[in-house]
Amino acid sequence: MPKRYFSALKIALIYALIAGLWIVFSDQALEAWVGNAGHLTQMQTYKGGFFVCVTAIVLFVLILRTLKATEVIHQFDPLTGLLNHHMFAAQLERKVAMRKPQQMLVVVYLDVDHFALLNQEMGFAQANNILINFSRVLKSHYSANVLIARFPPDQFAIGFLSDKTAGQIEADVKALKQLFDKSMLEQQVESTCTMGVALGPEDGKQAKAIMEAAATALSQGKLGTRNSFYFFNKSLSELEYQRQMLVKDLRHDLAQERLSLVYQPQYRLSDGAVMGVEVLIRWNHQEQGFIPPDVFIPIAEEQGLSQAITRFVVRRAYQELNEHDLLGQEIKRVSINISAVEFNSRKLLDALLIEIEKIPVFRQYLQIEITETATLNNIEQSAKIIKNLKQQGLKFSVDDFGTGYTSLAMLKDLPIDEVKIDRSFVDELDGETKAKAIIEAIVGMTHGFDISVIAEGIETQQQLDLLRDMGCSEGQGYFLARPMGIADLSKQYGKQRVPS
Ligand code: C2E
Ligand code: CA
Ligand code: CA
Repeated sequence: MPKRYFSALKIALIYALIAGLWIVFSDQALEAWVGNAGHLTQMQTYKGGFFVCVTAIVLFVLILRTLKATEVIHQFDPLTGLLNHHMFAAQLERKVAMRKPQQMLVVVYLDVDHFALLNQEMGFAQANNILINFSRVLKSHYSANVLIARFPPDQFAIGFLSDKTAGQIEADVKALKQLFDKSMLEQQVESTCTMGVALGPEDGKQAKAIMEAAATALSQGKLGTRNSFYFFNKSLSELEYQRQMLVKDLRHDLAQERLSLVYQPQYRLSDGAVMGVEVLIRWNHQEQGFIPPDVFIPIAEEQGLSQAITRFVVRRAYQELNEHDLLGQEIKRVSINISAVEFNSRKLLDALLIEIEKIPVFRQYLQIEITETATLNNIEQSAKIIKNLKQQGLKFSVDDFGTGYTSLAMLKDLPIDEVKIDRSFVDELDGETKAKAIIEAIVGMTHGFDISVIAEGIETQQQLDLLRDMGCSEGQGYFLARPMGIADLSKQYGKQRVPS
């Protein structure tokens, strides 16, 4: 039984005892005191009335105390004694009403960076102490007119009316940041904070709108560089909202495997034989329709979804190609794209390998395409990564080759199987002689290194002829075949000759 039941029972029993004793002894006393029977009845009525009055007063005091206690719980944050979210909003609304025309209502949200990590490292009690100490600093720094709140677990909010200019307000916000930094230094904790700032009436007329604007500014800030402060930006916030919606939908559709794949054949230019396919992902958004990978892949990378995308691509490509019995005879090579983030993360690459290990028969067909710029960070490191992947039986292609300026050096140091000449050079082939010279140079170099070379984005007969004449071994592009679904690929796989 909870403790409060015992307390309530104890009070009720004490009351019953006192009331019982009162009835017995007061009746006896009254009888002894009042001899007249008529008077006795009247006195008993007064006695009953007195009892009712006393119990009513006791009840009143008890209820008042309980109500006060619940009010405190509903108004203040129990850990720090600062205002809670509800009271902050209510009192901010009062400030909105009090605001003089020349004044601004400033709302700052302060979020402790990586608080979860602090919790993990120091334990809850110690991490809570940090918050309590900082709340004390806030209380002693600001006057009583300033609203200070804590929004669990690790956010603080400050709201005040100011006659200052926007520039001066920025100085105040900076001062708050310094207050935080100093408090952390004094507590010998390595912690930073990110802040979002909104100004009323510019960013919102009602308290709720200004608070929402401050929260948006904070979440925008947290996506960027932390340990800083960010003022609310309306147009950014609308874009951000759309982006967040897109991220949400992408996560959902990815989990439900509602994306699909297309395959673009790659041909040997000397005889038109199909050498392989490049797998390209497609997202048909339920409301917005087709969203190009150029739009959602960078978002996916940023949101840590690239691994999920690659896993989906590997699994679905194998499932479809295998189901249509396309692997082995016509299609000897399946190229998939991985993002730069994945390539440069040991953890993500290991996860990719684990996924591939689940389908050992697929490994011999797989070729990983990675853009040239992704491998530029650190050639030595990249060489190690590629070697490791090759030991696992994978092939390697450098995509968008020629755009990175250090291309030729890369050929020497990276153990790659293929380079893919960037579409922009092929595009300029029709008239430009410079593009032709670059392609010739790439073809010449790759021959020396025993690396095969493929040109992408072939759109005309002339481009095809020129590439073939220059000794480029393979080609891919709309002129040869557009990316297609598995059903079309299956229908056309016998079509091995390059249109001439
Ligand atoms: P990319 O790897 O350079 O892929 C080639 C892109 O060129 C594809 O666009 C393809 O449809 C397009 N293309 C093919 N032939 C021609 C042509 O003759 N002319 C022109 N103008 N374009 C041609 P897509 O499918 O829109 O993909 C765009 C980019 O999105 C890809 O560029 C790649 O970087 C990324 N991407 C696509 N699928 C995936 C994926 O599964 N994973 C990852 N990480 N990235 C992907
Ligand atoms: Ca590619
Ligand atoms: Ca490319």
